[in-house]
Amino acid sequence: MEQQAIKAELAQIKANLQQWNYEYYVLDQPTVEDALYDQTYQRLIELETAYPDLVTADSPTQRVGGEILTHFNKVSHQIPMLSLGDVFSKDELQSYILKNQSQGAKNLAYTCELKIDGLAISLTYEKGVFVKGSTRGNGMVGEDITQNLKTIQAIPLTLPEPIDLEVRGECYMPKKAFVQLNERREEAGQAIFANPRNAAAGSLRQLDTSVTAARNLNTFIYYLMEPEKLGLKTQSQALEKLAQLGFKVNPEYQVVTTEAEIYAYLDEYQAKRAQLPYDIDGVVLKLNDFALQRELGNTVKVPRWAIAYKFPPDQQETKVLDIEWTV
Ligand code: NAD
Repeated sequence: MEQQAIKAELAQIKANLQQWNYEYYVLDQPTVEDALYDQTYQRLIELETAYPDLVTADSPTQRVGGEILTHFNKVSHQIPMLSLGDVFSKDELQSYILKNQSQGAKNLAYTCELKIDGLAISLTYEKGVFVKGSTRGNGMVGEDITQNLKTIQAIPLTLPEPIDLEVRGECYMPKKAFVQLNERREEAGQAIFANPRNAAAGSLRQLDTSVTAARNLNTFIYYLMEPEKLGLKTQSQALEKLAQLGFKVNPEYQVVTTEAEIYAYLDEYQAKRAQLPYDIDGVVLKLNDFALQRELGNTVKVPRWAIAYKFPPDQQETKVLDIEWTV
């Protein structure tokens, strides 16, 4: 492809992704399917890898994504809230595992966790008391949604131990609550939400917290920050500790030690996906050993020690909701 055509394609892709990010993260009103977003993003990575001179500072690959609304206070994350790298096939996943092995993670022990399709939240406890809750925002700065999160029954307001702690997880709307909410909205002549993720995001960012309280939101907590301070050595120990402390932990996780077990887990949950009472869009693989996680470290955007395996979209064909796909 000649340089001019590549530049034009890059400009169009970046404009589309910027627009879609804004609609998804700021307005909570996506206009295209995630699969189209993901394909476009992959194309951007492909072009930028082939033509590194054409990477610009405003490219969506250069930022975590998400913007801050003005009406919630901002919260700086002491430890950045990273996204996850993703793969879309078992081959890509195998390459990821091999790469980790070549970089020192010889011992193949990962947790397989469901990738809950909600939005990331951070919860801070001081002396065992819930004091602050926030969204991811752009990864460095999020929004203070403490009062909204307090309305969610699954979030403990006090812990059984007077410890200082930050935990992170996913806030989501169960499928049933989503259907009921949309039914009520339809009857009232209000616009319906596109999907449970979208409804959860819209419900959390309510200045009137009684609206949040009425939305039946729920959480799964999957990260305990600075786990070594509590003497924890692995992600599976951290998940057990989180459950002991009263957090809701997704019960479907497994510790796996062979590639065959990983693929069996992927197949099992891809098949069970429709039966689960909440939306998932894939599986997250995390190196179980915290010492190995530290060794591999993070890029600016994502941890190297974890990866998201994304399921294919529900419908095979990619549906463009509102706007024309022009690239
Ligand atoms: P992501 O959703 O691909 O993955 C990272 C997120 O996974 C984390 O931030 C966390 O919230 C979540 N997660 C769920 N379960 C987890 C677990 N067990 N352990 C760890 N994390 C877990 O990344 P993202 O940056 O939040 O979103 C990007 C994705 O959003 C894109 O790939 C695309 O599918 C979608 N998107 C769509 C549009 C659109 O217009 N349709 C626009 C922007 C983004």
